[in-house]
Amino acid sequence: MSPPAEDGVPGAAPVTARDLRMTPEEMEALAARAVGLLLERWDGLGAQSPWKGASRREMEALLREPPPETGRPAEEVLERAVRDVLPVAARVDHPRFFAFVPSSPTWPGVVADLMCAGFNTFQGTWLGSGGPSQLELVVTDWFREWLGYPEGAGGLFTSGGSAASLDALVAARERAGAPSRPAVFLSDQSHTALDRAARIVGVRPEGLRKVASDQDFRLRMDDLQTSVERARREGFTPIAVCANAGTTSTGAVDPLPSMADFCEREGIWLHVDAAYGGFAVLTDRGRALFEGLARADSITLDAHKWLFQPFEAGCLMVRDVRTLDSAFSVRPDYLQDADPGLEQVNFADRGLQLSRSFRALKVWMSIQVFGMAAFREAIARGIHLADRADAWVRDSDHFELLSPASLGVVCFRYNPRGTRLGSDGLEALNERIQARVIADGTAMMSSTRLHGTYSLRLCIMNHHTTWEDVRDTLEALDRIGVELARG
Ligand SMILES: *Cc1c(COP(=O)(O)O)cnc(C)c1O
Repeated sequence: MSPPAEDGVPGAAPVTARDLRMTPEEMEALAARAVGLLLERWDGLGAQSPWKGASRREMEALLREPPPETGRPAEEVLERAVRDVLPVAARVDHPRFFAFVPSSPTWPGVVADLMCAGFNTFQGTWLGSGGPSQLELVVTDWFREWLGYPEGAGGLFTSGGSAASLDALVAARERAGAPSRPAVFLSDQSHTALDRAARIVGVRPEGLRKVASDQDFRLRMDDLQTSVERARREGFTPIAVCANAGTTSTGAVDPLPSMADFCEREGIWLHVDAAYGGFAVLTDRGRALFEGLARADSITLDAHKWLFQPFEAGCLMVRDVRTLDSAFSVRPDYLQDADPGLEQVNFADRGLQLSRSFRALKVWMSIQVFGMAAFREAIARGIHLADRADAWVRDSDHFELLSPASLGVVCFRYNPRGTRLGSDGLEALNERIQARVIADGTAMMSSTRLHGTYSLRLCIMNHHTTWEDVRDTLEALDRIGVELARG
């Protein structure tokens, strides 16, 4: 037998490039350097600004190049990533990052992601990963209990809340018999992840029915009722009503018990988007706010938000786990060996992904290391800090509270007593205040619009954030406001 030809050309010179392996010493040196750089970042975070941006032109100049034909020293490559790439980003875990939804992972969670990559876990079938699959069952069962779901409920980890919502709407559509003119109902405060999920499952724009919210940004039941009636009259089949357990804008919680009553009566799937606030169910305050949550057919959670995990750690929980299996299970010939039998679970049969990473490990490791009491307290602290910010705003003659603190979010604007600025003037002024506080490097903030009114917004859910971080930010906003209003 002749030796295999290189590059398919008989007699070509043997390839001399190094292979794709490293010696144990090289591996250890690279990993040690990586951990060292991470510790530097974590230690120095509070002293850095919470956001660093750059233009496309600047980043092109820094990074555009063809892939090198031969390799470079690994640590050099790592250091370049840490110098030129990774820092040009929002520091979502910075203690004064209050924009959008902050995310502040625990170190065991970070290490868990490294372990999953290193063990190269394929978390799609029981055959492929019995241990990880069992752990995903255990962790999702913890979630089941926290939510107050009955036995028989279950779910799976997903990349994020968006993917979880998509899987939920697939299950809802299938349960409704995959109607040809499906309609989904959601409040005007709902996250756009749901708009997108609805579009993907085949809901046309005419079938996406936005329901008005009341002055507290909660879905209006009367509007839901008329909206469903109208859609049915127009020949649509409702496949899901979506509720919020914490809107991203204001932390508002929709009237879950009334929505559950309504959906039960109407025979419509109730999905609750708790991606933002769901894990607050671990606190007394959250549990009280989420009354009725366990009556939902499905619930989206995001452990990369209020459970302090690295991205990506979404989760979908459903009241009857068989609804996921019947919506997603398919058995191609090339997976015939992976039939798990009745006792076991193929997580690939519960959602979109076959090749899945093992996301449950990070949650499990963090909780094993710190214990539930620490998590409950860390979540409660965010809620408490937002309450204090709310009180500070109420006390100030310069600020107007636009939406009271709820689940770690508080919305307000600079609007000093006696000002002659109209709403456009106030909007322009508040936009400038926000831009300045970001440019100064004091804090990262994002705004929102509350039934049309421009609002500053603080979202506080980082376990590193202290009252001093919040107060300093409010005082900076005040100082900037006074200065800009004068000039
Ligand atoms: C963050 C969020 C989502 C989207 O989740 P991803 O993890 O970003 O995909 C959906 N709904 C709400 C309420 C959210 O806060």
